Order: sequence, then structure tokens, then C-alpha cells
Amino acid sequence: MGESETLETPEESRPDGSEEIGDAPHVSEATDDMTPFEAASFFFQRSAERLELRDEMREVLASTYRELAVQVPVKMDTGKIRVFRGYRIQHNGARGPYKGGMRYHESADLDEVRALAALMTWKNALIDVPFGGAKGGVQVDATSLSPGELERLTRRFTSMISYIIGVNRDIPAPDMGTNAQTMAWMMDAFGQKNGYSPGIVTGKPVELGGSPGREEATGRGVVICALEAAERCGIDFDGASVAVQGFGNVGHWTAVLAAAKGAKVIAASDVHGGTLAKDGLDIEALLKHYAEESDVTSFPGGEEITNDELLELQCDILVPAAIQGVIHSKNADAVKAKLLVEAANGPVTPVADSILESNGVTIVPDILANAGGVTVSYFEWVQNIQEFRWELKDVNGELEKRMQKATQQVFARADADGTPLRAAGFDIAVERVARAAELRGYV
Ligand code: NAD
Repeated sequence: MGESETLETPEESRPDGSEEIGDAPHVSEATDDMTPFEAASFFFQRSAERLELRDEMREVLASTYRELAVQVPVKMDTGKIRVFRGYRIQHNGARGPYKGGMRYHESADLDEVRALAALMTWKNALIDVPFGGAKGGVQVDATSLSPGELERLTRRFTSMISYIIGVNRDIPAPDMGTNAQTMAWMMDAFGQKNGYSPGIVTGKPVELGGSPGREEATGRGVVICALEAAERCGIDFDGASVAVQGFGNVGHWTAVLAAAKGAKVIAASDVHGGTLAKDGLDIEALLKHYAEESDVTSFPGGEEITNDELLELQCDILVPAAIQGVIHSKNADAVKAKLLVEAANGPVTPVADSILESNGVTIVPDILANAGGVTVSYFEWVQNIQEFRWELKDVNGELEKRMQKATQQVFARADADGTPLRAAGFDIAVERVARAAELRGYV
């Protein structure tokens, strides 16, 4: 194994309490009740079949390398202790240190975090950053905690997973329910034990070594992909109607940047529901309203709609940018958009994927569409290691180059193999990871 920090033998990885998982789900058929990890595994297994991967390789790539589950007791503002469940899961480290976000959400259980960790492996390989895939999560409704409670939760959780993270080992980042402030607490908690280590997390505040452009990077990447894909589908992006589900980090930046490129953002939503203006929402006014009310449904410049209605709107481009599994067998037929850009992770279930495909909807898969965030996270990590800051224009320029290159590679592969974009993206990514594992002598 040479100098590998990421593919140790099982014996070396045991003192931290983690365990090896030998079995991976073998999902031969897409069904409606698939769990998120079964859904992610389904797409991987189809790829493994197309690529005719040998069985040992399939087994290694299908299962997660290391899973750490911890109990996170937190002193609440009332003085009472509440105990939360947290996870850090490392899926595959053949191409570099593990990398992936931290999600604070009630649904962030073992299965969901496994699925997200696997998707990170494929995403990092497809966008060609030198990272393996990981994800973390705490099962908590972050909106129900005070800032003090969130800080105590984050510090405790960081210290409990500190055995398996590291600047050259596993680097967390924000995801749903976490943000730059969460990363600042994580960096500080880790630094108290290990010394100044800005590269331990990405998505930090710029004042603490974060990269300019990281906050909007995922949304910027979504729009770069959407522009390329619109051209491929014969949609004029200038004036195209766009509906965005989710108005958090990814959703609101997608709306802002799509509007800046001339698209007409007709609908946006959050967990409460959505707002619709067929002639295009005033995004600046919506941002101001959201900053004050934390609710898009009451926006006076639009008409209230439900999240389900948003997904079925007559529009050119649909961008789910919230949670997984929102487009499923029961509503896939009702999707009217010609182009669906997966800003969220896993928003389309495998059953819905094939319905949309037979209905002629082009899907830009999550492992490509939302890779802008991890790309700028990579730039942030590089800046931290080199202690050298980049200008915003350099960050955005490099991001655009990398997103366009990966998108063109996916289009070319899809055209050459006659497959949908998701299959092409998985095939490129799985090939790269399999090759790295082989070269290391791991499989
Ligand atoms: P966020 O917490 O900032 O925002 C999430 C948004 O989704 C909020 O507007 C919330 O109100 C809404 N939402 C939550 N539950 C919902 C529901 N049931 N129905 C409709 N809307 C709901 O999170 P984010 O960072 O913007 O992440 C959104 C998605 O993008 C996630 O799937 C995440 O994994 C993915 N993603 C994020 C990044 C990143 O850099 N933040 C990178 C890649 C992928």
C-alpha cells in the first residue's frame, strides 16, 4: 500500500472504534421503496455491468470502506442533555483523501449518509479532483436548535470523529443544515487538539482561510452545466423558464446566477412551499423577503404553490435543489420540463429516472451538476496547504473550465455509448476509481 493514508488495512483502522463493512446491497431491480443507499447502489451496479467489472472490484466499490457512528450528547439551553446520533462514513479513498459534506437533518441516518458518501466518490472522480468520497451527518433538525446548542453539538461531534478526519485523510464541508459557521467551529475544535489546521474543513468563512467563491460555487456549477445542457437540448437559456426547488445555499445561488445569465426564474420554494410568477420572479426582492421572513411562500411578488406543484410546472428547466427522492414513480410522468438539472443529491429515484428517460426528459445527474461545490472546496484545500490566496476571478475561471470539461466529457461518452447522461457520468467515474484501486494494488 506504500504511503497510502486512505486505504489502510482493517487492523490499522480499528483503534478509533470504526468497523469494516463487507456486504453491499445487491439491487437488481428498481422499486419504489428503495432506500437512498439502494438507489445509489443501483446506479453503480448498472455501471459495473456495462463496464464488465470483475466481482472483487464490484464488491470493493459497492460497499463503504469505513463507518463511524457516534453518540453526541449536547447540553441544551434548558440545562437538559439531549443525545443525537452522528455518522462519518468513508466510501472509497483510492483517488485521494476522503472528502464530503456534513449534513444536519432528521433524515440523516446510516443509510442516507452511506448513499451520500458513495455519490461523493463518483462525483470527485468525475470532476477529477484528487479526493475519495465520504459524508457525515447528525440526525437533528438544525432549525430547532439555538446557535449555542448548534455550536456545542458541532464541537462535540467533531471531537468524536476527530480520529478519522485529517487534512490528508478526510476533509468535511457544509451540506444541508450546515454552513460556513459550522465549518469554523469544526476547524476550531479540531485545531484545539491538533494545532492550526485550516485545511481540515472546506467551506469555511473567508476570514478563516475559506476560498472566495466557495459559498456560491455549487449554484455556479449548476448554472454552468445547465447552460451547456440547454444548448445540447436546443433550449435558448436566455429567456428560458426555470423552476428551482429549495432556496438554501444551492437553490438560492442557482436562482440568482441563472437569472444573471438571462433565464426567467418562474418559481422557487423552501420546506414550507413555493412561490410562482409566470413572467419571472424578482430574485433580488425574493432574497430580501427570504432574509426577513425565512419563508418564500409569503412573497408578495408571487403566487403561493406547493412543492409538488413546483415540480410539475410547465417550464424549460427544472432544478431540484433540496432533498433526495422528490421525483418518484408517482409524479415523474407529470414533469413537463425538457431538462432536469439535479442540484440536490439523489432527487430522482431510479424508477422515476427511467420514466423521465422514456418521456424524453434530459437529466444532468447530481454527480456532475452539483460538483461545483467540491471543486471549489478542492481549490480551498490547495490554498490552505500552500498558504497562498487566490483571487475570486481565478476561482471562478478555474471552476468554469473544470465544469465545462467534465460536462463535455459526459456528453461525448453518452454520444459514443448511446447512453443517458447519468450512465455516462457513472461509467467515467467508476472507471477512474477502479483504475486507481487497481494501480494501488488494493483489488
Ligand atoms: P440548505 O440547508 O442550505 O438548503 C436546503 C433547502 O431545502 C432549504 O431551502 C430548505 O427549506 C429546503 N427543504 C428542506 N426540506 C425540504 C423539503 N422536504 N421539500 C422542499 N424543500 C425542502 O442545503 P444546501 O446546502 O442548499 O443543499 C441542498 C441540496 O444540495 C442537498 O441535496 C445537498 O446534498 C446538495 N448539495 C449541496 C452542496 C453545497 O455545497 N451546499 C454541494 C453539493 C450538493
